[in-house]
Amino acid sequence: MPNNQSQNYIGRFAPSPTGPVHFGTLIAAVGSYLQAKKNNGVWLLRIEDVDITRKIEGADVDILNTLEAFGFEWQGDIVYQSERSEYYQQALDQLITQSLVFPCICSRKQLAESNSDVYPGTCRDRKLPEKNQHALRLQAKDISIKFNDTVMGAQSQNIKQQCGDFIIRRRDNLFAYQLAVVVDDALQNITEIVRGADLLDSTARQIYLQQLLHYPTPDYCHLPLAIDATGNKISKSEGAVKIDINNKEKSLISALNFLGQQAPAELVKSNINDIWKWAIDNWDIGQVPKTKSSQI
Ligand code: GLU
Repeated sequence: MPNNQSQNYIGRFAPSPTGPVHFGTLIAAVGSYLQAKKNNGVWLLRIEDVDITRKIEGADVDILNTLEAFGFEWQGDIVYQSERSEYYQQALDQLITQSLVFPCICSRKQLAESNSDVYPGTCRDRKLPEKNQHALRLQAKDISIKFNDTVMGAQSQNIKQQCGDFIIRRRDNLFAYQLAVVVDDALQNITEIVRGADLLDSTARQIYLQQLLHYPTPDYCHLPLAIDATGNKISKSEGAVKIDINNKEKSLISALNFLGQQAPAELVKSNINDIWKWAIDNWDIGQVPKTKSSQI
């Protein structure tokens, strides 16, 4: 569990540049920021543009401008995943050395026919040559990964049975998010990862990778996901409404309330600096609802 007295807390916010900041992004930014501030820690920014096919031109600048307008303060240089292939390749090489990586030629259609979210292992023993146009999967061992999420509590997932061998380099040669995020969190010495609960299910795979790569495992803290009235995730790539920076006080208070922080009614009359001051002084991770999603 995080230690509130620690001077060594390193948190991060890692948006994908797939669109402008919307309410869901703001929740993850505010939660990770306040958790870092409360722990006297630093807050790093990483632009997760490893999947260049989903990247929207200019979205990174738009995200940074919005964060700046809200008064978020980050430390150090902003890391761009698109510039870090050499680190991901080194990690991949380490996994290959352990004989845990195999090429996979299964098509999406074939996998859909298997009627399961768990990879059926089709290519595992095929001994295909490691050609570039193949996806690369990591063998999942029959082990249970357990962790105690700061908000969601005790979690356990059997990698082989509940997830199966998973892709770490895609057929188009791009490194998969699961590998990139683990390498970056380790190289940036992140001590606690605060992010949306849509990634709760990815965490066991990430801890599995950390174990294989001999990286430390940070604490994990998943925040409820903002969903709309139809139950869909409010997401950049789904064209969610952009946060209005002319009304940032109201948006910040809504984000605090979404995170269970019960901002006093008179705070709406305050300026953004005073709202941040109240938020930092009163941030209580214990108040964050322990639900995977919540409607806004
Ligand atoms: N890049 C991911 C997103 O924007 C977040 C990944 C993470 O925090 O691990 O949803």
